[in-house]
Amino acid sequence: MTTFPIVQLFIGGALVDASSGEIFETRNPATGDHLAQVQHANVADVDRAVESATKGFQVWSAMTGAERGRILNRAAAILRERNDELARMEVLDTGKPISEAIAVDVLSGADCIEYFAGMAATLHGEHFDLGGSFAYTRREPLGVCAGIGAWNYPLQIACWKSAPALACGNAMVFKPAELTPLTAIKLAEIYREAGLPDGVFNVVQGDARTGEALTAHPDVAKVSLTGEVGTGKRVMAAAASTLKHVTLELGGKSPLVVFEDANLTNAVSAALLANFYTQGEVCSNGTRVFVHRSIHDEFVEALRVRTDALIIGDPLDPATHVGALISQAHMAKVLAYIDAGIAAGAVVVSGGGRASGNAILDAGCFVRPTIFDACTDDMAIVQEEIFGPVMTVLVFDDETEVVARANDTRFGLAAGVFTQNLSRGHRVAAQLEAGIVWINNYNLTPIEVPFGGVKQSGIGRENSHAAIEHYTQRKTVYVELGDVDAPY
Ligand code: NDP
Repeated sequence: MTTFPIVQLFIGGALVDASSGEIFETRNPATGDHLAQVQHANVADVDRAVESATKGFQVWSAMTGAERGRILNRAAAILRERNDELARMEVLDTGKPISEAIAVDVLSGADCIEYFAGMAATLHGEHFDLGGSFAYTRREPLGVCAGIGAWNYPLQIACWKSAPALACGNAMVFKPAELTPLTAIKLAEIYREAGLPDGVFNVVQGDARTGEALTAHPDVAKVSLTGEVGTGKRVMAAAASTLKHVTLELGGKSPLVVFEDANLTNAVSAALLANFYTQGEVCSNGTRVFVHRSIHDEFVEALRVRTDALIIGDPLDPATHVGALISQAHMAKVLAYIDAGIAAGAVVVSGGGRASGNAILDAGCFVRPTIFDACTDDMAIVQEEIFGPVMTVLVFDDETEVVARANDTRFGLAAGVFTQNLSRGHRVAAQLEAGIVWINNYNLTPIEVPFGGVKQSGIGRENSHAAIEHYTQRKTVYVELGDVDAPY
């Protein structure tokens, strides 16, 4: 009988068994192979993790920012050393191409930890001179924070949430998505190796029930979720029970607007990046590609040629451009959207269904990168987040029209504009309802700049100085230098 590795929980600085006795399995979406047996955390396990984080918080928040920064910097260095091993693990768990995982997933996590490690010693309050008195503010951590991750960038998300939280002196209980449980535990081990005190970073495995237990827990001060809009609404409602702080990084259906004066080669490159990177499983993807009528035919033909040339297949092959979707269920959802697009009258320019034809493709969750032309704004493929390799192309005639159509969505995560006209680029960027707008590029999220959505794409910002605001609170201390002037 084959035995599979057991993935435990990480609580109080150690790998521990869940008390639930419940096990779920994680599979490689590219092969269907069973990867590991994972222990599911129940309410008692979540209680244990929060208790451990509460103790860890006492120790960690009493350390100086410089001390915290040194430990975080060591963790970032270990992540970099283990890039190949962790990237490979991420590929097995997510199905994404190894070239991407090596270039982005682990290293962007390390960038994030280094960035906030550097900031830890710089956090400070303010001073107010009030004449006969003065006041100052202390920037204090919130306490125990919960991080809940999605499955598309499991390690990066765990870093994006834990690094600012820890730099500010908080402790964290992190729950990775049920579909991608492997790398958050590795991050916990790396933090421990770097010298993080026990209990400061804990990992509980499980599904929505585990997330709900965390979100409802009275001793959790903040919840940071990356997930779907519906989950965000449920988390916010549950967090209201004790008025927890929330950061919500949710879904999108972002516009990418290509004006007639755009550099066409760059615009095509960006449209491919904005739709097919990580098999299209990227929240900020520019899946509504608005193209000016005068360049439509040339643009779509260039897209078709380059999309037809993409290599889809074994995620562990360095030559692969497009890997496997996360699960059979998700593949079925993406294929149903493709069928709906065809039924609604959109024209398939490239792709249009499941990838097959060899043993690897037939075994895994592979969908061909798909371009739909002749789309209209009311189609489901244009309105709804598909979270797969499906691009919709829409034609426009003028700037006012395209801005209105681009904004005609409940989402507001990201947007892109391609033009060589400086004034137009900035004018359109100002009008687009999105948390981030790229001019003449797409999907770049350096750690220095804020990332997050407006409208139903989220609340709060990750990365940059902005994240500090979301993991600290100000305490005002007023100091009287004279007598108390009471009117009685
Ligand atoms: P889900 O919303 O399904 O899940 C996100 C996380 O929340 C998972 O860990 C999930 O557990 C957990 N969860 C589910 N229900 C609850 C609940 N009621 N209370 C607490 N936690 C809960 O998202 P996906 O994992 O399917 O990820 C895809 C979505 O994430 C897309 O909409 C995408 O746009 C968005 N996303 C947003 C990003 C951003 O930064 N804005 C970045 C990446 C993705 P489990 O799945 O284990 O059951």
